[in-house]
Amino acid sequence: MPENILILGGTAEAAKLARLAHEKLAGRARIVVSLAGRTRATAASPVETRTGGFGGAAGLADYLRAEGIALVVDATHPFAARISANARVACAETNVPRLQLVRPPWTMPKLARVTWAADLGEAAMLLPDMSRAAFLAVGGRGMAAFETIDTVRLVARAVEMPGEKPAHIEVILGRPPFAVEAERELLERLKVDAIVARASGGASGLAKIEAARDLKLSILLVRRPDPEPGECVASVEDALAWIESRI
Ligand code: NAP
Repeated sequence: MPENILILGGTAEAAKLARLAHEKLAGRARIVVSLAGRTRATAASPVETRTGGFGGAAGLADYLRAEGIALVVDATHPFAARISANARVACAETNVPRLQLVRPPWTMPKLARVTWAADLGEAAMLLPDMSRAAFLAVGGRGMAAFETIDTVRLVARAVEMPGEKPAHIEVILGRPPFAVEAERELLERLKVDAIVARASGGASGLAKIEAARDLKLSILLVRRPDPEPGECVASVEDALAWIESRI
């Protein structure tokens, strides 16, 4: 009988891991990817997918039992802290081994003019003293933190047009990955003097930081939450090896 493996997803890394595990472990593992269902458009995948919240840690524990899940890989976004905490609790309760796939943190490019904020609220407080026009790369829901700012022209990027958004924030659409050259062109075209982003880590997100550094823009970064305690790897390949060694 193949082992049931749950990958908590919503990231490019999760999608890649799911695809590789599905191909490489065919017959030995049934891979299920879980998505929160925040966005509508997702790339077609051959891997079984379930969508929507579980109902907190207790709901996730129920799901793990009901589906006979043998392993969980938490490959969610570094800022998706709640689902990662729920996964830790649910896996501990059900004795299901859990691995976190956590993007390597960014090494700041030389000469980057970085100011750090503890969270989006602090970033919104700091921004008016740093900028007249800023690019927000804080996710569709993150832009709400900037709704009271009326002294800075704000352009935010989101994967999908948010249902509700502060009226004074212009939204442009874009789906990662982004290349440095394209990010540089975008920031020049928008005529911004600062960029606000979450320090998510990983290679593709760093492009906007490198572009901002090249253009000598101010860079306001929100620190990422620490991963949950427990086993962690930084690459899809290591996550795949972890699964393979346990089935
Ligand atoms: P979050 O704050 O940690 O989670 C909020 C709730 O959403 C969770 O308690 C859970 O609901 C549900 N949920 C989250 N991820 C889920 C998943 N993979 N499968 C099933 N339910 C999930 O997470 P978030 O920041 O809203 O992010 C939601 C999803 O988008 C994550 O899967 C993440 O990987 C992806 N994502 C997030 C960001 C970001 O900036 N935060 C960026 C890119 C992608 P229940 O408690 O009901 O189970």
